[in-house]
Amino acid sequence: MSRVMIIGAGGVGNVVAKKCAQNDEVFTEIMIASRTKAKCDKIAEEIKVTFPRSRTVVTTAQVDADDVPQLAALIREYAPAMVINVALPYQDLTIMDACLETGVHYLDTANYEPRDVAKFEYSWQWAYQDRFREAGLMALLGCGFDPGATNVFTAHHAKHHFQEIQYLDIVDCNNGNHGKAFATNFNPEINIREITANGRYWENGDWVETQPLEISQDIYYPKVQTRKSFVLYHEELESLVKNFPTIRRARFWMTFGEAYIKHLSVLEAVGMTSIEPIDFRGQKVIPLEFLKAVLPAPESLAENYTGQTCIGVQAKGIGKDGREKVHFVYNVCDHAETYREVQAQAVSYTTGVPAMIGAMLMLRGDWMKPGVYNVEEFDPDPFVAAMNRWGLPVDELAGIELVK
Ligand code: NDP
Repeated sequence: MSRVMIIGAGGVGNVVAKKCAQNDEVFTEIMIASRTKAKCDKIAEEIKVTFPRSRTVVTTAQVDADDVPQLAALIREYAPAMVINVALPYQDLTIMDACLETGVHYLDTANYEPRDVAKFEYSWQWAYQDRFREAGLMALLGCGFDPGATNVFTAHHAKHHFQEIQYLDIVDCNNGNHGKAFATNFNPEINIREITANGRYWENGDWVETQPLEISQDIYYPKVQTRKSFVLYHEELESLVKNFPTIRRARFWMTFGEAYIKHLSVLEAVGMTSIEPIDFRGQKVIPLEFLKAVLPAPESLAENYTGQTCIGVQAKGIGKDGREKVHFVYNVCDHAETYREVQAQAVSYTTGVPAMIGAMLMLRGDWMKPGVYNVEEFDPDPFVAAMNRWGLPVDELAGIELVK
């Protein structure tokens, strides 16, 4: 039915490409294009072994997605219906520009972040609204798990359970063990920039800023474990409080182990997480980029990873029956199972599967309208159904307040 270009061949790109090949009725042709072509070729080779019966025609290409003319030329040549951007947040705007230039739809999993400022917000991408609408093109922003499935879960709460959502808590637990002293589960540079930044949450119409990892509590993650979890700022909070204005407080919680925090504190204290360039033997070096180069690649963690992730959304407010209500919607994903299926750990898997689903819904026309959108602006039902079908079963827990 459709030809799609996937940009980025890291942990998430691997999952997106394989899930597209598994869903070969929708994704009849895919191109995996990235900075290092060898990584694209490796994924293409693995697809032949993992899904030998897939009819998806897979091609690969080298591209620098920072370079709009180069990227636009490749898009013109391949002529896909849409681009799935799973490169880095730095490339969001150049890829959106290339999509506008060539007339193809766009989807990503993380909002734009300038390279030289550790700051992420939707303003840059929302500014493309008129250009996409006028071109009759759609851009779907933040369609991974968090953001992505968490936005869908919030829309599901609003559609099926609540007249009014007043308190929203998004919780993200990785209870897995990869056996390394210190590693990040997705791109280390992006991950460390996110965690070392100040925390922030929404309360009574305004943002409340916290020190990094200042607020914590023990949260019970169903089917997994009770884990200490920390408030940090996460990008879906920005669009969710805009699209659900009844929300009085919205927070995002993530688990970190003691060892992880200890390593990160030391690296931060000695300046290794800085994004300020330093002179080293006549060369400009950004400490965080150097650190990324010595840390394990996220995709390399997959083979021996054990344990599960549990990511969900707790909503509190006035239920459909007019009474106070608390409800939790979540998914549990097992690292070893995702490795068996697509040679990926669960953090890459939980991001890549929703990206494939979002693309499918756009291509099928279920979620298609010109303009720039966040995931919660669409009907959550076909997305939840597809999560159940494509490897991320959705569970619900009624009446128990997991996050205080
Ligand atoms: P990786 O670092 O593993 O992969 C990134 C890929 O992008 C690499 O293949 C890299 O190439 C490629 N790339 C980087 N720069 C360019 C460029 N200029 N041109 C072309 N290709 C480029 O990251 P992940 O796979 O872990 O993450 C991918 C995206 O998913 C990130 O934006 C991340 O923030 C997002 N994410 C979203 C989550 C969610 O739930 N919403 C959760 C986790 C991640 P090379 O191989 O040469 O380095």
